[in-house]
Amino acid sequence: MTSATSTTLGFDDDLVRGLTAQLRATSGETFEEQSPLTGRPLATVPRSSADDIGAAVTTAREFQPRWAAVPVAERADCLLRLHDLLLDNQDAILDLICAESGKARMDAYMELVHLVLTARYYGRRAARLLRTSRAAGIVPGLTRVDVNRVPKGVVGLITPWNYPLTMALCDGIAALVAGNTVVHKPDSQTVLTALMGIALLRAAGVPENAWQVVAAPGREVGPQLVAGCDMIAFTGSTATGRQLATATAGRLTSISAELGGKNPLLVLADADLEAAAEGAARACFDNAGQLCVHIERIYVDARVYDEFRERLVSAVTGLVLAPGLGWDCQVGTLISPAQLAKVQDHVSDARTKGATVLCGGHPRPDLAPWCYEPTVLEGVTPAMRCHLDETFGPVVSLYRFDGEDEAVELANQGTQGLNASIWTTDHAHGRRIARRLRAGTVNINEGYAAALASIDAPMGGMGTSGMGRRQGAEGLLRFTEPQTVATQRLVPLTPFGPIGSATGGAEGFVRLLNRGLRVLRAVGRA
Ligand code: NAP
Repeated sequence: MTSATSTTLGFDDDLVRGLTAQLRATSGETFEEQSPLTGRPLATVPRSSADDIGAAVTTAREFQPRWAAVPVAERADCLLRLHDLLLDNQDAILDLICAESGKARMDAYMELVHLVLTARYYGRRAARLLRTSRAAGIVPGLTRVDVNRVPKGVVGLITPWNYPLTMALCDGIAALVAGNTVVHKPDSQTVLTALMGIALLRAAGVPENAWQVVAAPGREVGPQLVAGCDMIAFTGSTATGRQLATATAGRLTSISAELGGKNPLLVLADADLEAAAEGAARACFDNAGQLCVHIERIYVDARVYDEFRERLVSAVTGLVLAPGLGWDCQVGTLISPAQLAKVQDHVSDARTKGATVLCGGHPRPDLAPWCYEPTVLEGVTPAMRCHLDETFGPVVSLYRFDGEDEAVELANQGTQGLNASIWTTDHAHGRRIARRLRAGTVNINEGYAAALASIDAPMGGMGTSGMGRRQGAEGLLRFTEPQTVATQRLVPLTPFGPIGSATGGAEGFVRLLNRGLRVLRAVGRA
């Protein structure tokens, strides 16, 4: 086992004190974080009480009108400054992400890039997307119709551990630039990374009261945020998302929920099999499989199955499993004993029920306490837990299909619909198949990264994989209420005013309106 300490992991007590000072936490109680690289304590984090959470919500509500009054261009400038600060402070950020989550440094860098892209996108686009737009009135010229984008108010943000930097900030900065204030509860395992992002937000000019952060178990914080906020923005498991959706429904509070997946990858007979195998290995094992859009099911055309299997196993066995802070690591460790237990449970259940392990299938405590090998299974059946339940770890199952209809049917199994991937040299054919898949994103000749990095396009899940979308216009406008302001000009459209007098009363008004409706239909107006 590695003997790294918190100092050799790249940060010290002063940094921890500085970061945790940003928390609203007055209870005097604390909890410990452990580093997955060592299994040893990494930091002591102050714990927020119910009073702290209540105070954060009250402050956020009081401050929100002032924040909304700041011109959107100024709010957007904060995001552009955040963009630069993230790049300037990249080494320290990557050290912290690796130490706290155990992921490979390249995975940490990629999440930093995702946040940088998101900050630039909303920093540059928010003013245009939030601008009041014009809509058509009933009679052209008679009614002016404006549609304003009004912030929801206070957004309760609940974020997971698997991408502790970008998941902590990427939705919240969209809420913020739209004029909302944020009360944030990061996952208890990765509070420090979230706090480092928030420190950079504050350095970029975001006032403390616009984004407050609390630390306590989600089951305690969740009900208070649901009760006090105007909207919940949640990323995490489908089980927790369902609980929050039930609670918000009772109060008619808005919710957006980015949840789990069991994402399929299809290899068509005409695919470049070398590229498909290499791409599939990345798509399955990036972030050690702890990535909502990663691939856990691979369906291969029976005509190329054997060749693809050989190439995939070779690509997977070539991955460098080396948890640590260096760039040499391609696959890091799982974050916790709970994650390791879930992965081991899925693999041993599959083995016991007759699946074959083509490669991997073992824990690697010699590398890090909760580390697990990239694992490829064959012969998985519906009786096995890993068949359609999300493993959220470095395990993928390999299946064969005969014909496109069967491929689509297999890919669409289950209730989740987050991401899918299709490998083919006929791109137009791939796009036609994509239309038949129930998935919020479909990547052609890429596993997940092409859609994830396209910040201009919406990203999210169908079915039990989520409600709402992050990224693109949708990712910003979900944090607003559309408000229609209709200004009536000249005369009211009523039989009892000047129009009624000119048309000889109610019956004349009706004849005029009917004629007008037929004309509008004939000229093709909406
Ligand atoms: P989780 O248990 O749902 O936890 C996620 C967050 O919710 C944490 O901050 C957690 O806080 C909090 N939480 C837990 N119970 C809560 C409750 N009853 N009320 C309110 N908040 C609560 O998720 P996880 O299993 O750790 O995370 C992995 C899951 O997230 C996977 O299913 C993955 O697919 C999904 N995910 C989805 C996306 C996406 O964009 N679709 C992205 C990343 C991850 P504490 O842990 O501190 O208690």
